[in-house]
Amino acid sequence: MQKMCCFSPEYYERSRNILENALKDLSAYKSWQAFDPGPRYHIDTRYASMPALTKKDIREHFPDGFVPSGKDIKQGLESGEIEFVKTSGTCDVSVTNIWNQKWWDESERLSWKLNSHSARLATGTHNEAILANPINVGFISNDADLPVGKRRLVRFLYLNEKTDPALWTPAFMDRMTDELGEFKPAVFEANPSLLAKLCRHIAERSKPVFQPGLIVLTYEYPSVLHYRQIRRVFGSPIASSYGSTETGYVFMQCEEGKFHQNSESCRIDFQALKPGHGGHGIGRILVTPLSNPWYRIIHFDVGDLVRLDESGDCPCGRNSGIILSAIEGRMTTATLTLAGRLVTLRELDNIIGGLSGVDEYRLEQTGKDSYDLFIVSQRNDKNALAGEASNLLKKLYGDGAKISVSYENAIFPESTGKYRLAKADFPINVEDYIDKDCISEGK
Ligand SMILES: [Zn+2]
Repeated sequence: MQKMCCFSPEYYERSRNILENALKDLSAYKSWQAFDPGPRYHIDTRYASMPALTKKDIREHFPDGFVPSGKDIKQGLESGEIEFVKTSGTCDVSVTNIWNQKWWDESERLSWKLNSHSARLATGTHNEAILANPINVGFISNDADLPVGKRRLVRFLYLNEKTDPALWTPAFMDRMTDELGEFKPAVFEANPSLLAKLCRHIAERSKPVFQPGLIVLTYEYPSVLHYRQIRRVFGSPIASSYGSTETGYVFMQCEEGKFHQNSESCRIDFQALKPGHGGHGIGRILVTPLSNPWYRIIHFDVGDLVRLDESGDCPCGRNSGIILSAIEGRMTTATLTLAGRLVTLRELDNIIGGLSGVDEYRLEQTGKDSYDLFIVSQRNDKNALAGEASNLLKKLYGDGAKISVSYENAIFPESTGKYRLAKADFPINVEDYIDKDCISEGK
């Protein structure tokens, strides 16, 4: 299923060195030695034999269990080469990681090659506007508005300092729009739900807005609704960038819309879901950064589901590794049908995307057969919209599904600063859905 022909000998060499050194030297991976079939086996088979590293494992062995011999944590911290950062991963318990800016920047730089617009525009000195929740990046100031000078950092301009988008007044959103025109960013990096909110405002004002060379969506799953709202205002190319604090930049969407593995920066092992769950070609990814000198994260379950591209090819011609047709959303945004089939966020989102006049939504599965849908909409015929939504969700989850639709003035981000479009109020363990036969056959 997974095309292997395209990886370089260096890719395998680095994969092997990292695994072998970790098994030998690092306490976090000591117990993994028992799973290793040994050097006689292909490195892909050896990785496939390993368990998945989880955030729980990181918490248990942090930091010493992950730092290669020869690196002195105390010295690294004192010199500023590394720091400890607490992540607020969507929907997950937070975890502390080692942050090495040089490695991160290099991983980002390598990802730029995977999209022709970023390859052209992202020089490393280009100016970039960022629209994110300041809990994730930037400067926080909920009371007073920060002047532009207090939101600049080297080549970046942070457009938003409010942790709660409900604090965005029309004047505040006008400020963001005006600043785009003044700063003229080559690249505009944005959290999709926040950008969609800004775009609803801009569309209402029907004022022209500066068009950056490329919009990069990151931090969150971009919904069909987000794209629709963004497209009303921006004609710029849009690319989705996918990664995490632990792994660096993992996938970049090319100009043809497919996702390419950043294989100069990381190794990816794909594990398919059991047939019938999520849809064909869907599985989780286990990521191993290949060049982080300080922090050895191996076979890490990033917590997202992805869909392999069936053809394994892309019209853009890039052949850097695994090609995805889509990111399917986090495991913690998956829901179940009445029959127990796993539904990814993307599958749900495509269905909700069929409704017109929906600004925002959130779906909560409160029990095995009950689903609450919260909608923000300007439509006048709210009852008709609720009926349409209910019918669509019954088609997805099953005729007997109990669907409740209610209207909100706004949907709020979680304490992580990120929105969560769907959730189940009970645990869904990814391990129960992985096709174990597929892994042992090394497919
Ligand atoms: Zn491509």
